[in-house]
Amino acid sequence: MNVLVIYPKPDKAKKPRFGFSYEMLLIATILSKYHQVGIKDYSCETFDEHELIEYVRREDVDIALVECDSYALKRSQNILHAAEIIDMLNQYTHTIAYGNYCYITKKDFGNAKQTVTDNEINNIIDFVNQYEKNSTIPHVEAYDELPYIDRSMLLPIPYYKDNERNTLLQTSKGCENTCIFCQRKGWQHCYVTHSDEYVLDELKTIKENGYRNVWITDENFTFNLSRAKKLLSKIMQANLHEDLRFFISSWANIDEEFLDLAKKCNIRIISFGIESGNSEILQFYRKNINIKKVPSIIQYANSIGIFTVGNFIIGAPMETEETINETFYLIRNCEFDQVNIKNLDYMIGSTLYESLDDEQKVKDHVFACFENGLNRFKLEDIKKIKDTFLSEYYKAHRTAIEQKIRLYGTPF
Ligand code: SF4
Repeated sequence: MNVLVIYPKPDKAKKPRFGFSYEMLLIATILSKYHQVGIKDYSCETFDEHELIEYVRREDVDIALVECDSYALKRSQNILHAAEIIDMLNQYTHTIAYGNYCYITKKDFGNAKQTVTDNEINNIIDFVNQYEKNSTIPHVEAYDELPYIDRSMLLPIPYYKDNERNTLLQTSKGCENTCIFCQRKGWQHCYVTHSDEYVLDELKTIKENGYRNVWITDENFTFNLSRAKKLLSKIMQANLHEDLRFFISSWANIDEEFLDLAKKCNIRIISFGIESGNSEILQFYRKNINIKKVPSIIQYANSIGIFTVGNFIIGAPMETEETINETFYLIRNCEFDQVNIKNLDYMIGSTLYESLDDEQKVKDHVFACFENGLNRFKLEDIKKIKDTFLSEYYKAHRTAIEQKIRLYGTPF
């Protein structure tokens, strides 16, 4: 069969760091062992309706799998374009919607002929198998049974060719922390890990293929800290860290021993989810980190040359100017190299979203602000406070970051 896997363009343009939909490439990889598979990734390719229709007709595409993504930290919702593409392709091929948005809403998506509503790779396999009785794709019985993503499938796309030294690696999925704003729990309920051997072997392949920058997609690489330490030690014992640079996301529940290992293993950037400098707000978020320990951990990471990113949220119901200033004080004290401050967003799939009144749930996400009755700040005031702080912060931090780059080089 001829299968086309499509990633629609995001609803809002973002300036993302390197990345692609891991799920899109994983599905394409699995199906490609049994069928002809093409990829159209409109997160980085220019969309041209006529070109897409012509491709589908010329290649005689039997199934178009369209990813409906949701607001994750690194990607963006793309459901407007997904619905448009599905409407356009329905007369030429069989459309199947899949992706985080479908797993959260558990509803049929737009006019798609079928929708995969559970985040389970075997469901997609079953849907595809329905169409081809002669070549049945077997189920994947365990997380380690998944094939390594076939990174070469992206190379016909110019963006990935231009970034051919960058790739993604997934060593685990999920996170069992209890953050009520986190949307990921809406599509990934449990924490699963690849075995160390699986990761080491995939890293060998990554090295052999000339990659240099490895962006680890795990929601929280250090959720199981002892596992994270063991894995880094094994990567170093096997010399797999040489000539590679790693980038991870982590909560702040780590220690100096982990940071020393991270440094030796060439982890260049750690992106920390801290959220607030105020303990009452952290309790409201059910963030479950020890805020008192945060500055010393971040300062230690900075001191050994790891680049640090701090992620924060403003807009909890009890947020005041004082609590915002506590957050800003924490950021200055930690001296993060990069700071992302978001307006609290009640996103579908999160525990927070469930607390909204039914009439507010007509939208997939609701910003916390005075206008929506969720806190005392107007949306534009939050933006102003945030922008003013960030512009002053980066001015003040310029010398420190320049010195860090002089001492340790650029992060990637
Ligand atoms: S630590 Fe990060 S990934 Fe885990 S629940 Fe909280 S926000 Fe989500």
